[in-house]
Amino acid sequence: KKYLEESSERKRLYNEVIELKGNIRVFCRCRPLNQDEIASGSSSVVEFDPSQETELQIICSDSSRKQFKFDHIFGPKDNQEAVFAQTSPVVTSVLDGYNVCIFAYGQTGTGKTFTMEGTPENRGVNYRTLEELFRISKERCSTMKYELFVSMLEVYNEKIRDLLVENPNQPPKKLEVKQAAEGTQEVPGLVEARVYSTDEVWELLKTGSCARSVGSTNANELSSRSHCLLRITVKGENLINGQRTRSHLWLVDLAGSERLGRIEVEGERLKESQFINKSLSALGDVISALASKTAHIPYRNSKLTHLLQSSLGRDCKTLMFVQISPSAADLGETICSLNFASRVRGIEHGPARKQG
Ligand code: ADP
Repeated sequence: KKYLEESSERKRLYNEVIELKGNIRVFCRCRPLNQDEIASGSSSVVEFDPSQETELQIICSDSSRKQFKFDHIFGPKDNQEAVFAQTSPVVTSVLDGYNVCIFAYGQTGTGKTFTMEGTPENRGVNYRTLEELFRISKERCSTMKYELFVSMLEVYNEKIRDLLVENPNQPPKKLEVKQAAEGTQEVPGLVEARVYSTDEVWELLKTGSCARSVGSTNANELSSRSHCLLRITVKGENLINGQRTRSHLWLVDLAGSERLGRIEVEGERLKESQFINKSLSALGDVISALASKTAHIPYRNSKLTHLLQSSLGRDCKTLMFVQISPSAADLGETICSLNFASRVRGIEHGPARKQG
């Protein structure tokens, strides 16, 4: 009974928040200057006001300033715990039956993989999410029974590959999105690994990450040009009223959003770049259509949005991390990323403010 009351209170509060703010959030995260940037005497072009966790300013090359607002801003000093503290309410709502999508968007080298995957010492959103889902499942075990499954896939040049194949020497399988009878999108043949504890999760995530590099001569290069998707499926059973739920949480490390230099635009790179541009703009179009409440949502314009269709709707929760670099050398890409994120959120950035 206590659980049912808590659950309906959570839903009521959540719906109230939706009324006020909508169910799309955009967080911005700026990485620290790296060793090379410090050595070359770079200073940060991103300015944060510590009292304003939702606002930042970019110092442009002509010293003018551009202001951007997001739902939350993380600066170089904010660690993985601080990021997860804000992300946790969104991801854990998958246990209440919501479909959820989280994306990391930005130029290569800005920390998309750091935010989502993290490192063994500084684990990211993916691992922390599973840890939290296990913790809450245990806490609710007298009223709810949950089963968790993990799938991992990659979208490269509009092709879907399963990253959780049993034999790591075997090239990953190619998969297709199929419309299921209930109007949801399924990926027949995709491996769904049942997970029972956090211990096995880290190994599983590592296996999936390693599979990304199969068949590629340069693992880092390929990973920046493909989208990596982790899908957590939650099957829930309410032990009091017998109600069953099945929901998906997608955690997506997107391909690098950078534009190619003019010299590089030929052959394979041109093809890859066109596929990336197409899928990132398709994703932007879907999110902005959802934010602006237009009737038609253009899911079918890319594999990525088609794949995510059932989890990227008005009844779902969406969170995008726009990742940026503080370096002056990346200024152009930083402004492009911030403009993209402002557009998807339906917020225009403010006029340039006077310096000082
Ligand atoms: P991307 O996935 O966007 O290409 P990475 O996640 O690989 O970028 O990050 C590039 C480098 O910067 C990595 O060495 C990563 O560990 C480091 N890095 C990124 N963000 C942070 C951060 N917030 N704090 C510390 N190091 C970071």
